Amino acid sequence: MRKCNVCKKNKPNFRYKNDKKLTCKSCERTWVKYFLRLLVKQRRLTPYERLGNRLGYMGTAFIMISPYLLKYDDLGAYTYLIGAVLSLPQVWLAKQWNLVIVNFNLLIGYGLYIINNI
Ligand SMILES: [Zn+2]
Repeated sequence: MRKCNVCKKNKPNFRYKNDKKLTCKSCERTWVKYFLRLLVKQRRLTPYERLGNRLGYMGTAFIMISPYLLKYDDLGAYTYLIGAVLSLPQVWLAKQWNLVIVNFNLLIGYGLYIINNI
C-alpha cells in the first residue's frame, strides 16, 4: 500500500505503474485525459440561458401532453403552439439549429392546422 500524491488515497502497489511512481495510474495524466479536458469548456450559464432552460422544460411538458389533447376539440394543437413558443428561446440561445427548425415546423404546421379548422 502506498499513498498517491494526487488523490491522497492509500492504494495497493498494482495501482501504480512501477515502484518509483508516486502517482497512481488513475490519477496520471495521459494523452486521452488531456484530449478530453481540451474538449470541455467550463463556463457558467447566463441569466437568459437559465430562463430559457426553465421555459424549455415547460414547453417540453406542453409538447408532451399535446398528442393526448388533440382529440378534445383540437386543444392539443394550441398546446403544441404554446410548447413550440416556450421551447424556442432555449434552443435558439444554445444554437441548436436543428431543434429551432423542428419548433418552427411545429409552429407552421399546427398554425395552419388551426387556421384550416376554424
Ligand atoms: Zn491517485
